Amino acid sequence: MLTRLAGGRVIDPAHGRDEVGDLWVRDGRVVAPPDPGARADETHDLSGCFVMAGGIDIHSHIAGANVNTSRLLLPELRASGASDSVPVSYEIGRLYAAMGFTTVVEPAISPHVAVQAQLEIAAIPFIDRAILAVLGNEDYLLRLLRDGEGDAALADYAARMLAGSRALGVKVINPGGAAAFKENARSFGLDDEVPAYGVSSRAILNAMQRAVQALGIPHPVHLHCNNLGMAGNVETALATIEAAGDLPVHLAHLQFYAYGREGPRGFSSAAPRLAEAVNAHPNVTADVGQVMFGQTVTVSSDVLRQFNARPQAHPRKWAIMDGDGNGGGIVPYRYRRTDYYNAVQFAAGLELFLLAADPWRLFFTTDHPNGGPFTTYPDLLALLMDRGLREQWIGTLPKEAMEATTLPSLSREYTLNEIAIMTRAAPARLLGLADRGHLAPGARADIAVYRPQADRAAMFRDAALVLKDGRMVIRDGRVTDTVFGRTLNVQPGFDPSIERRLAAWYDDIYGVRPDAFDVPEQAGGRGSGFEAVPCRS
Ligand SMILES: [Zn+2]
Repeated sequence: MLTRLAGGRVIDPAHGRDEVGDLWVRDGRVVAPPDPGARADETHDLSGCFVMAGGIDIHSHIAGANVNTSRLLLPELRASGASDSVPVSYEIGRLYAAMGFTTVVEPAISPHVAVQAQLEIAAIPFIDRAILAVLGNEDYLLRLLRDGEGDAALADYAARMLAGSRALGVKVINPGGAAAFKENARSFGLDDEVPAYGVSSRAILNAMQRAVQALGIPHPVHLHCNNLGMAGNVETALATIEAAGDLPVHLAHLQFYAYGREGPRGFSSAAPRLAEAVNAHPNVTADVGQVMFGQTVTVSSDVLRQFNARPQAHPRKWAIMDGDGNGGGIVPYRYRRTDYYNAVQFAAGLELFLLAADPWRLFFTTDHPNGGPFTTYPDLLALLMDRGLREQWIGTLPKEAMEATTLPSLSREYTLNEIAIMTRAAPARLLGLADRGHLAPGARADIAVYRPQADRAAMFRDAALVLKDGRMVIRDGRVTDTVFGRTLNVQPGFDPSIERRLAAWYDDIYGVRPDAFDVPEQAGGRGSGFEAVPCRS
């Protein structure tokens, strides 16, 4: 079937295109305009609307052990209507699709619980999806480093874990910190060493960077740094950027590391320093992890940080799981406009957005649900595009807090072209997805159409039209058709001798074979199952 999307403003920054024109779709792909006189089977008149590739979210906690535990711990969030922090599978897909997002990455799955997580994401309709595998705090890896095994052994191990969990890339969370927590450490910096292994956070990060590079995995190491959320932690983030050297690194939810110690409460925004460092290091990418006000739940495999955050729980309950690898923690939390610290956090995130020189290297996230649910994206997009709206919000926040930031002085307004880079073209490039994030012939026909209105948040909340693989799934924010997508993963090669070594270790430690944790082909679910994203050779 040939579909014509007629007369919209086509915004495709990957090809420098921003013009009123047509898009043609056949068999799930964007195609070149057919010969003059060719008749479309279906035409949508998009005059007055603008047209982008489907949105791509690189960091959103939508599945896995932490998300499920928060559902079980906090049923009252659903009952009270504050359930956007932990929506059910169908709602995750519907809410993303209604906003024009068509690909979402769940960024923190322990390989040993990947089967469950893969089954969950496969049950989410409308979107393509992927997981990142969490490595960096498990005994096997720390032993390799302690024993001075070479890079080849590390790369083989990482490749085997990615293959077993069918992940799209490697996530490293507080490298070494979760392992040190087991020995009762309550803080862990870049150069602290894990007891009994003598391995530092810095060494783990660099080793994983080299492994990802050697394997040719498109997505760089996706790093959750040490000292999340602490006053003065900008120093940790700056040191980590230096520690990364020349190899690529992606810094997750950077806002949570943008804190200085200035101001009346010893807590200030250091976002300008951090933005400057990111701007100056072309090997560094980051997503923001913007804080948005309201009730949410924090879910993280930074077990050390979550343990320390228990006193801030609201409502007052929490779950901490130690043991395998990183462990995890669930701490419900309410961000309040009247709270000095929360207002500084809100401002620091916006400063990172507004001070970023390169929209290709800064990514749009709330670290759902940690900074706020992904359903707040429309409000956040509106704030980035409208200085006047920001001033209204700033007017409702504690003056003392705003004085500990530069937000009130920033006048930048994001353009639609920059929004399309940050939420479409750049994430596709960062994940190695050649047929997404753009609208040239050959692109997957994941397409979002928005109808301009004065209320930009309303515009982004309910897309006028969304196509997934060329099929219309949303019209005016409502579902017209339910489809299931595919799960993206990488399959880098490895020396099969790692199987024998791992089998001995698993037998010794857990009494099972390593393939007991492997994700089977059937876990790809309905839709198109698993799709391999090529690695560089
Ligand atoms: Zn996260």
